[in-house]
Amino acid sequence: MQDEISVCACRPPPLAGPGEQQLLGCSLGCLNRLSSVLCDPKLCPCGELCSNRSLHLLRPPRTEVILTENRGWGVRAVEPVPKVRHSGAFAA
Ligand SMILES: [Zn+2]
Ligand SMILES: [Zn+2]
Repeated sequence: MQDEISVCACRPPPLAGPGEQQLLGCSLGCLNRLSSVLCDPKLCPCGELCSNRSLHLLRPPRTEVILTENRGWGVRAVEPVPKVRHSGAFAA
């Protein structure tokens, strides 16, 4: 049993600017990843940006699983619905 929590020596990636893709920490060079150990995001230097975590802990991508009528289960992208107000049209 391996119940010891290892903390790797990764450096957190720089935060992405607007429009840039956020890099994730703990990629291929991560000591934990190399020894097949998942990071504890509370202890990992990369924290929320750690990519060496079990998938169910990761924030789900903007997709959702749906049951389609004739193709069984599927995944579709969920886009935020902008609240567009029709301004002016009904203004007195
Ligand atoms: Zn790491
Ligand atoms: Zn990590």
